[in-house]
Amino acid sequence: MSSKKRDYYEILGINKDATENDIKLAYRGLARQLHPDLNKTDPKAKEKFIELQEAYEVLSDANKRGSYDRYGFSGVDVDMSSVFRGGIPGLDDLLRSIFGGGMFGDSFGSIFGSRGRARSAPRREVGQDIEDHIKITFENAMFGTKKDVIIKRYIPCDECEGTGAEDPSSVKVCPQCNGSGRTRKMTQSGFGTIIRESECYTCNGTGKVIKKKCPICNGRKVVPETKTIHVNIPPGVENGVHLKVQGAGHIPSSKAIPGDLYLGIKIKENENFIRRRNDLFTVINVDIVTATLGGETTVPTLDYKTEKLTEKELKIPAGTQHGTEFRIKNRGATYLRGRGKGDQYIIINIKIPKKVTEEQRKLLEKFKDLN
Ligand SMILES: [Zn+2]
Ligand SMILES: [Zn+2]
Repeated sequence: MSSKKRDYYEILGINKDATENDIKLAYRGLARQLHPDLNKTDPKAKEKFIELQEAYEVLSDANKRGSYDRYGFSGVDVDMSSVFRGGIPGLDDLLRSIFGGGMFGDSFGSIFGSRGRARSAPRREVGQDIEDHIKITFENAMFGTKKDVIIKRYIPCDECEGTGAEDPSSVKVCPQCNGSGRTRKMTQSGFGTIIRESECYTCNGTGKVIKKKCPICNGRKVVPETKTIHVNIPPGVENGVHLKVQGAGHIPSSKAIPGDLYLGIKIKENENFIRRRNDLFTVINVDIVTATLGGETTVPTLDYKTEKLTEKELKIPAGTQHGTEFRIKNRGATYLRGRGKGDQYIIINIKIPKKVTEEQRKLLEKFKDLN
């Protein structure tokens, strides 16, 4: 099994601006080609089909697609092989479960049949996300690194089990609002009766009253926590992207879904390398004699074996012109979506001497006369 992941748009053979319908059509066409039942002689059939399914699962869901567009694979967490652990359903069953009754039915669900049910279930509270950023060196960005990030978040208070009360069993329904957290006030005015709804003063909108507040959280139900988060920064990470660390955000209660941490990456510049997409550009000064007669020079480059910046000898052929580019293959940045590496381009800058000695002048003049 290859661990390299292909871009989801590439798998479906569609453009980044594909509509929902384009995605459906592309998926349906490919599912009919790639289903393992129809490719029994291909040992990789199942793998290919799961890849297609995963691409479809993400791109057919507006939220997941948005997250994928912004953060790449790190923005989505889909594991189709575990969904299909029990085997891949037959093509007809599968298409029916996705596209509804008819082949062109309108009901467009997900093979995660639970999604429809989840929607009608009471919504779970979701913790707030935390946004932070981290500065890393160019080397760290190229070779990947692990960083510890210290975050401050709040978590449910252990002492009161998140109730906010000194004695959790003493929590009562608010008598003022009967637990709704809202109160209605009627006022008479010249225009008639005005009903104004507002947050209950007695319980601050929580619907519950506490006799004595928890001394640890002072009734706030949550306590601050300082936590060290270990973050894996993938090789090839780009400046300005946000890495998502699921569950590292605030946790408002023990039943809530924790928020996430979005860690912005800032990469310190390195004067020897300019990055454009996944290629690196390095400008090298070469003197006029070496450029004319040929020779060797050293260039800064990446050594992926030792994961260090290093130098490499570069042959300058005789007659090298200003602006000539030499390509060193696979010495660029790693593609986050697992498609190898970019290249490094060495751009030759021929250095014209600003000053020459008397002797050099004579030699150059002689050179000119000989031309
Ligand atoms: Zn109340
Ligand atoms: Zn407490």
